[in-house]
Amino acid sequence: MMRSFYLLLLGIVYIDFLLVSAADSEAIRTEKELVDIFTNQGDVYTFDDLKEEVGPLPDIPDYRHYDYNEMTAYLKELHKLYPNLTHIYSAGRSVNGRELWVLCISRFPARHTFGIPEFKYIANMHGNEVSGRNFVLYLAWTLLHEYTNNAWIKNLVDTTRIHLMPSMNPDGYEESVEGDETGVRGRNNANRKDLNRNFPTRFPNYFPSQRPEPETLAVIKWSRNVPFVLSANLHGGSTIVNYPFDDAPTRVRAHKYTPSPDNALFVRLAYSYARAHTRMWKPGPRCVNDQLNMALDPEHGIVNGAEWYIVPGGMQDWNYIHTNCFEVTVETNCVKFPRKSEMKWLWDENKYALLFYAAQVHNAITGFVIDKETRHGIPNATVSIDFRSKIVSSYDGGEFWRLANIGEYEVTFDHPMYVPVTKKVTLTKEKRSARVQVELTRLEEELLNDVNSRLAGYDEEHSRYSRSTFNSQPSLILVFTSLLFISYHMGAHQLF
Ligand SMILES: [Zn+2]
Repeated sequence: MMRSFYLLLLGIVYIDFLLVSAADSEAIRTEKELVDIFTNQGDVYTFDDLKEEVGPLPDIPDYRHYDYNEMTAYLKELHKLYPNLTHIYSAGRSVNGRELWVLCISRFPARHTFGIPEFKYIANMHGNEVSGRNFVLYLAWTLLHEYTNNAWIKNLVDTTRIHLMPSMNPDGYEESVEGDETGVRGRNNANRKDLNRNFPTRFPNYFPSQRPEPETLAVIKWSRNVPFVLSANLHGGSTIVNYPFDDAPTRVRAHKYTPSPDNALFVRLAYSYARAHTRMWKPGPRCVNDQLNMALDPEHGIVNGAEWYIVPGGMQDWNYIHTNCFEVTVETNCVKFPRKSEMKWLWDENKYALLFYAAQVHNAITGFVIDKETRHGIPNATVSIDFRSKIVSSYDGGEFWRLANIGEYEVTFDHPMYVPVTKKVTLTKEKRSARVQVELTRLEEELLNDVNSRLAGYDEEHSRYSRSTFNSQPSLILVFTSLLFISYHMGAHQLF
C-alpha cells in the first residue's frame, strides 16, 4: 500500500518535471542563443535599418536642460501646441510637493481606448541621471512635430497611448549639478531614499521592503490604474539594458544569472533597444570616456540584473511580479548629468532605440475575453501561455495583452466562474501580433454551487490542518509534493 503511494507521488513529480522542462526550454536558452534566434528571425533592427524604415528625424530645436519650472512650462506649451494629441496629468507629488508630470501622447490621449495598448517611459528616478529626462522631452517634441510629416511616427501615435514621465524624482534633480559624471548628489529623493530600492522586494526574508516613499507610492498607484503593457525605466551611468530579475535570494549578494520565466521575451526586449542604438549592442567598453568604464563587458549590450548586481526593491521586478506590464531598465549613457553641449550626440545615439522600443508594445497576443451567452467582457480572466508562470489578467471589457516572441503558443484563458479555453496562436515575422476573441462558457449553476460547497469544505479542512501538527511522514510528503505541484503550476510569483 505504502509502496504504491510513493510510486504515485514519484509519478506526479516526474510528470510535473517533464511539463516544466518543456515549458522552460525557451527560458533556459543562453542569452547568445536567444540573440542569434531573434537576429535570424529579423525581429530586431539596427540603427541603420531604423534610419531607413522610420526616416530621418529633425534636429531638436534646443538640446537643453530643463529645471522643474522650465519642464512644467515646456510640457504645458506642447499641450497648447498639440491639444488633440496630448494630455497632461500628474501621477502624484514628490516629498517637496513637486508634481510627477506625465505627458500622454496618442490619437486619443485623454483616456484608454479599447484596442490601443498603453506604453510608458519613466525617467530621472535617480535625480542626477538626467539624459533620460531630456530624451523623454525631446521624444515628445519629435512625436508631435513629426506626426504630420512622418508616416511611421503617425502610425505609432495613432495606434499607441504613450505616457512620458520625464522625472520620477524632481526633488533630486533640483539638487544635482550639470557636469556630474559619476556622483550621487541628487540621486536620492528629498528623504534621502534611493527610489529604485524602494518598491516591495521580491524576497522580504532576505531583503526587507522599505517603507514606500511618496514618489514610489504614486508610481505604484499609477501603474495599477492604467493597463500598461510595456515600459522602460531610463537611467544613466553606463550604456547597457538591464532585464529582470534584479533580485535573487542571496545573503551575500552573490552575482548570479537570475532569469524570469519570461527570459526569452526580456532578452528580446532588451536587445531591441541595444541593437537599435549606434553602439550599445557591441561588446567592449561601455563608455566613450575611458575613465568612466567599469569592469563590465556584456557580449550584446544587455545584462541580467542580478548577474550584474543585486537590486532588491527595484521597479522592473515589481512591474513583472505585480502588474501586467513588462519593464526593462536602460542605462542610456555613461555620464550622469551631461553638459548641455553633449546632449545632441547622446540623443542621436538613442533616438531610434527609444522609438523602436515603444513600438514593441504591439508584438503581442491581444483581444477580448467575453461571456459566450451575454457577450459581455469578462474582467480578471487569466491569460497564460505555455504553462509559463507569468499570468496576465484581462481588464474592464475583458481586454487583454500578452507580449510574446515569434512562435507558436497554447494560450489558456480561465476564470473561476467559467470553463477554461485553450487556443493555439502563432506569431510570425509577417504577423507580429494576433487578435483573439475568446468566448467562455459560464459554469452551470449546479456545478458552480457544487464547486462553491467543495471550496467551502476545503477551506474548513484547510484551517483544521493548519492548526494541527503533522506527525506522520506520509502527510509531510503529501504536503511537500502538493506545494511543489502548486508552485510550478500556479507560478512562483503568486506565492511571494
Ligand atoms: Zn540610476
